[in-house]
Amino acid sequence: MTFATLGLIEPLLRSLETLGYQTPTPVQAQAIPAVLAGRDLMAAAQTGTGKTAGFALPLLQLLAMEGPKVTANSVRALILVPTRELAEQVHEAVRQYAENLPLRTYAVYGGVSINPQMMKLRSGVDLLVATPGRLLDLFRQNALKFNQLQTLVLDEADRMLDLGFSEELANIYRALPKKRQTLLFSATFSDDIRLLAGQMLNDPLSIEVSPRNVAANTVKQWIVTVDKKRKPELFVHLMRKGKWKQVLVFAKTRNGVDALVEKLQGLGINADGIHGDKPQATRQRALDRFKASEVQILVATDVAARGLDIEDLPLVVNFDLPIVAEDYIHRIGRTGRAGSTGEAISLVCADEVNLLSAIEMLTRQTLKRQNEPDFEPEHRVPDTDASGQVVKKPKKPKKPKASGGGGGGGKRNLGKWVDSGEVAPAEPSIKPVRKVPVFNTGPRKRKP
Ligand code: AMP
Repeated sequence: MTFATLGLIEPLLRSLETLGYQTPTPVQAQAIPAVLAGRDLMAAAQTGTGKTAGFALPLLQLLAMEGPKVTANSVRALILVPTRELAEQVHEAVRQYAENLPLRTYAVYGGVSINPQMMKLRSGVDLLVATPGRLLDLFRQNALKFNQLQTLVLDEADRMLDLGFSEELANIYRALPKKRQTLLFSATFSDDIRLLAGQMLNDPLSIEVSPRNVAANTVKQWIVTVDKKRKPELFVHLMRKGKWKQVLVFAKTRNGVDALVEKLQGLGINADGIHGDKPQATRQRALDRFKASEVQILVATDVAARGLDIEDLPLVVNFDLPIVAEDYIHRIGRTGRAGSTGEAISLVCADEVNLLSAIEMLTRQTLKRQNEPDFEPEHRVPDTDASGQVVKKPKKPKKPKASGGGGGGGKRNLGKWVDSGEVAPAEPSIKPVRKVPVFNTGPRKRKP
């Protein structure tokens, strides 16, 4: 199969040739004809498998071939993304695909001055990539009109439909024309999000090109158990031992990011951090330098979990496990992209056992445990498996102090080694521990 057989027009085929794309990926093969045919879509595909081109190419074609010329302050297609960095990245891809088409494309997001964005929108934009907050600001200031809007795309759709964005999205929907094409793309879709999404779509086509809720099978994953307070020390130890070249590290909180970066820099390690409290220019610079391999270790909150495409990134480390199990799949999906291999290591302490269990249940795998000598935890992490069971072992009778710590020594059933793509046949019988993402209920962190 080629891009030409999918019905793409010559100017797009030329751009793809320049980019070196020869064969459509599975999600592209299914999505491109469906979008061209005007269908609504709910598409689930693993991270790093070419989703962006899956919606951007046919969208650009529709914009080039159909509909009226864009008028002042109008937008004809809108791609909503959860983070500013992703907005930049998606727009950069769109810009490359649209190289040979007479279309105006642009990206708007918060954290930078709104005035240049307002100026740019004056003459209208065919395809706009946006984060929801800034989009609403622009709309409320009359810098944007949606009467010409024909297609809406939610990239990382499950995150966009989750609680953090629900109010903003509800306000955006109210402003959009009812008659439009809607496309939802994500690597993960929980059952609740599926239900919610189904209500937003018109006779949608569901595309699922890989088993649900798994990361790319090119990512080898394991965990190292450790006491919480020793995580920084273990990280540095593993880094030196493994001679890590480039690592993306995820920490739970902004303070956690800053503390680890400070510690690493104090040891003379080339590290930088990104999180929601940092100015956008600083965030983007740190990311750009990391992508250019000028920074060795980038520590981030989940602001970097979604969609970012970092070429040849060999390793992701979860310094802390994510609160929401789906974010694990997105985090480790930063490596092993576009068919390359990668590794994902999680440092897990006893407090995190329920998070670990939820991840294993969601991804239907028992993560291999690898003990690091001298770092065996005093607070043992109970055994877990993909059924969601946390196996509480009976307390050992007290022994006089001898060979260190709790839980090391004996042979444990640690589960079999699995690559992330190796999936148990059945769906888990118990639902993952996860907040139910229904509009207007309960808190969810907004900006990581
Ligand atoms: P995405 O999942 O959209 O972030 O894409 C992951 C990476 O795969 C990006 O670097 C794309 O440029 C690349 N890519 C997407 N589609 C293709 C293709 N058909 N052939 C080769 N590379 C591709």
